[in-house]
Amino acid sequence: MEVSCDRCLEPMACPIDAQSTLKVVMGDEYADDGDMVTIPEREGTINVAWNIYELAALQIPLRHVHPEGECKSLTLDSSLKEEKEEIHETDPRWEELRKIVNRK
Ligand SMILES: [Zn+2]
Repeated sequence: MEVSCDRCLEPMACPIDAQSTLKVVMGDEYADDGDMVTIPEREGTINVAWNIYELAALQIPLRHVHPEGECKSLTLDSSLKEEKEEIHETDPRWEELRKIVNRK
């Protein structure tokens, strides 16, 4: 897959290798219990685009950066670059959680 590098934001290749099995059965109504999908007999087809997307997306590592020295935007000075990385590593959800904890 092609993803944006966390450090320089340029596109980078992220090789993924995943396999999955989706059990599909015919039934009266559409149902998806996670392990098995029931599709209505009158339709008889299933669109697996989302399943493939989800499977692939789960393979992308949390942090993805070019190998050291291969980032494209090396014109940034090092202090700016560090600041940029720091912003990237702070998940806003943790900040919200911290506010809730501090309120007690
Ligand atoms: Zn990069």
